[in-house]
Amino acid sequence: MNQYLSIIGKKILMAREERYLKKIKISKNHKCIIELSLNIPGFPKSGGIWAGVFKVCIRSIQDNIPSQLLLYNIDIAGYYAVFSSYISLKDTKIKSCLIEEQNMWGRLVDIDCFENGVKISREDVGFKERKCILCNNYNSVCIRNHVHNIKELRCEAEKLAKNIE
Ligand SMILES: [Zn+2]
Repeated sequence: MNQYLSIIGKKILMAREERYLKKIKISKNHKCIIELSLNIPGFPKSGGIWAGVFKVCIRSIQDNIPSQLLLYNIDIAGYYAVFSSYISLKDTKIKSCLIEEQNMWGRLVDIDCFENGVKISREDVGFKERKCILCNNYNSVCIRNHVHNIKELRCEAEKLAKNIE
């Protein structure tokens, strides 16, 4: 592997570990947790329109889900935030899926929901697996088979991010 990519890869792994530890620590006294992360293809993953998407998504979670923002931050993998939800895990996940699906920029965010550290899936609340932002396949299929290059994906992500209302 290219040395630059392997260093970036290691930094991302370390950042994920750090996020995980922070989340565990902060969520200790809360039952239902929402974890928002931005899913931006390529680099950089911060600044400009991406900061705008993050801000709008935080506001949308606060407007739609009775919750409290516990933490927001940015690392090499991008923006993320942790909320405590005051409603049931299932209702929290349904409302999160609707935010992901009813907004153009929603394609760029992942809203994961946990109770006592266990994640609930989209399928658990009757939603389908997420589709790729470029074609009609399931996201996991395109990622696994490297169907699209980063440049194409980033270009589409920029278009979606510009649709912020
Ligand atoms: Zn695709």
